[in-house]
Amino acid sequence: MYRHTLLWFTNNLRVDDNPVFEHASNSEHLTCLFIQHPRENRTNRFGFKGIGRHRQSFLNQALVSLDSHLHTMNQSLECVENGYVDALSQIILRDQIEHLVTSRHTGSYEQDALKEIASRFPHLVITVLETHTLFRERQLPFALSELPDSFTPFRKKVEGIKIDAPASMPSRLPPRKQDYQAKPATGEPTDNAFNGSEQSALAHLEHYFSGDLPSTYKETRNGLDEWECSTKFSPWLALGILSPKRIIQRLNRYEDEVVANDSTYWIYFELLWRDYFQWYAHKWGNKIYHQTGPFDRKPLTSFYPDRMKSWIEGTTPYPIINAAMRQLKATGYQSNRARQLVASCLVHELGIDWRYGAAYFEEALIDFDLASNWGNWQYLGGVGADPRGHRQFNLAKQTQTYDPEGLFIKRWGGEEMMLPINRVDYHDWPIEMK
Ligand SMILES: Cc1cc2nc3c(=O)[nH]c(=O)nc-3n(C[C@H](O)[C@H](O)[C@H](O)COP(=O)(O)OP(=O)(O)OC[C@H]3O[C@@H](n4cnc5c(N)ncnc54)[C@H](O)[C@@H]3O)c2cc1C
Repeated sequence: MYRHTLLWFTNNLRVDDNPVFEHASNSEHLTCLFIQHPRENRTNRFGFKGIGRHRQSFLNQALVSLDSHLHTMNQSLECVENGYVDALSQIILRDQIEHLVTSRHTGSYEQDALKEIASRFPHLVITVLETHTLFRERQLPFALSELPDSFTPFRKKVEGIKIDAPASMPSRLPPRKQDYQAKPATGEPTDNAFNGSEQSALAHLEHYFSGDLPSTYKETRNGLDEWECSTKFSPWLALGILSPKRIIQRLNRYEDEVVANDSTYWIYFELLWRDYFQWYAHKWGNKIYHQTGPFDRKPLTSFYPDRMKSWIEGTTPYPIINAAMRQLKATGYQSNRARQLVASCLVHELGIDWRYGAAYFEEALIDFDLASNWGNWQYLGGVGADPRGHRQFNLAKQTQTYDPEGLFIKRWGGEEMMLPINRVDYHDWPIEMK
């Protein structure tokens, strides 16, 4: 039994299926903490922030929800804005922490902070639990260094491994030692369809599996616009408000009680993709950000500010791209098909270094997940886990297939302002436009 434990929440902002609680309970006192790093609100070297307005509101809602859940268990959530090492050090000293419990994270800032804390406080016991993936690393039938370079061999090796049952919820937690002046989280409402509370996540999960949508997922999942064409689990999964194991458990129940078919299998298949990118990020560390990827390929290195601006604002010569980018800006969400098209367009039609696209997505997406985002961008940038190494979508053909009547384009104003790709000539003179 420890005297004082610190529970640092990162990518596990939930009470359901969260094994950190069991480990944090073995203590006389407990401090629950969330740290927002100020770096996220600074402009990075690509010219974007680490978090935009959609995800920030969604995150605030998640924090309010977690705090109120913790109150029912005799606890509360302290939210601070500071660098990770400084924030953790201050609380370890203030509360004389003996045990730190947290969730495993693919982020290097989070991992480096834990290393620094371990060296600053050698007496501290640190427990890191795997809450973000379907599998634990030890369940993988290969060493992490042997993770296959592409998805299919990974899938073949892990398919069939039994996924742990979700952890049970604690009824009570050790108390705080005293009430500190914690900065309370605020969760203002958002203008998009997602709400960051855990209650909304679980209600959405239940709603999705209570109709017949899962039984047609494979046919509808490539839709560009309709809310019901795919699961929409991603924003909750990304912040760990919803557990991937809970989804699998609910999916299995649906398969037992309603139907098991190609579509229900495909939901599992897509969640395996998510797990693949998590392990890919764990394996390759910072190489997930490298322009040449983990395999030292040679991508485009060019950058054109005016083309980038057109891409972001949806004023390229391609209506389907414009519609998708306007949708992203307005809602923080874009379908998987649209993400593939806009990434392909950035790299191939616009000739821009893929990392600028990934960095913009990091700011703009409501469901930004480090591993899924940078892993998918490397894939489409031709430097990642794609065995073909080159993937360019034919935008006219894709428009014909996925928006034959132009409804998506019309809804998001994809033809409102279409500018030519080049707006300056070779000598940087503006080209006159009609
Ligand atoms: C360039 C690019 C960037 C992306 N960035 C992110 C990101 O930051 N965060 C994120 O969660 N997803 C990302 N994806 C993957 C995918 O587009 C989204 O997960 C999906 O569109 C979310 O909608 P959904 O929950 O309805 O997905 P569904 O089609 O219902 O899929 C179910 C779940 O499977 C997982 N999944 C599906 N496709 C993928 C995939 N290609 N890679 C990883 N996981 C997948 C997601 O967790 C998703 O919620 C990206 C894809 C591309 C091409």
